[in-house]
Amino acid sequence: MEKLLLIEDLEKAEDKTLYCTFDEKIEGIECVTPIHAQLCAKSLGDFIQITGNVTGTVELECDLCLDKFNHDLDFEIDELFSKQSLLGEYDESGQEFEIKDGQFVTDLNGAKEIDIYDLLYQSVILNIPNKKVCGINCKGRQFLSEENTTDPRLAVFDDSLINPKNS
Ligand SMILES: [Zn+2]
Repeated sequence: MEKLLLIEDLEKAEDKTLYCTFDEKIEGIECVTPIHAQLCAKSLGDFIQITGNVTGTVELECDLCLDKFNHDLDFEIDELFSKQSLLGEYDESGQEFEIKDGQFVTDLNGAKEIDIYDLLYQSVILNIPNKKVCGINCKGRQFLSEENTTDPRLAVFDDSLINPKNS
């Protein structure tokens, strides 16, 4: 299912502002609860700004022990979209342009709508931690520290490797 924000509707809205509530599971993401988002879209001349808060719970797989665990999401969205193509004015390498530190603009390339579903999908993916660990008591951590031979407590094991068994 798609949720589209029509730019035409936004231009006609009072104060050129529209509010949108999103409350459903997103395909491609293991959602334990529906993803809830309270978004505000504002037309700012050549740009459209979408801000809001996103919450929900997703299921992730621990990188260390491979157990499934729940991860709570709670983050802010602040996205700028350009109605006019920015190609030529900025970097031509992609669809997203950095206009100042940390502020990215997505080029709409003349599109008449913004796909809220896709925006939320991308935002949730970006807010999932790179290192997914189920918790401080993860049983995979022990396994990792055993492998870590730079740990001074394990130096004794290194000594035994200086003279490997003759074969
Ligand atoms: Zn784990």
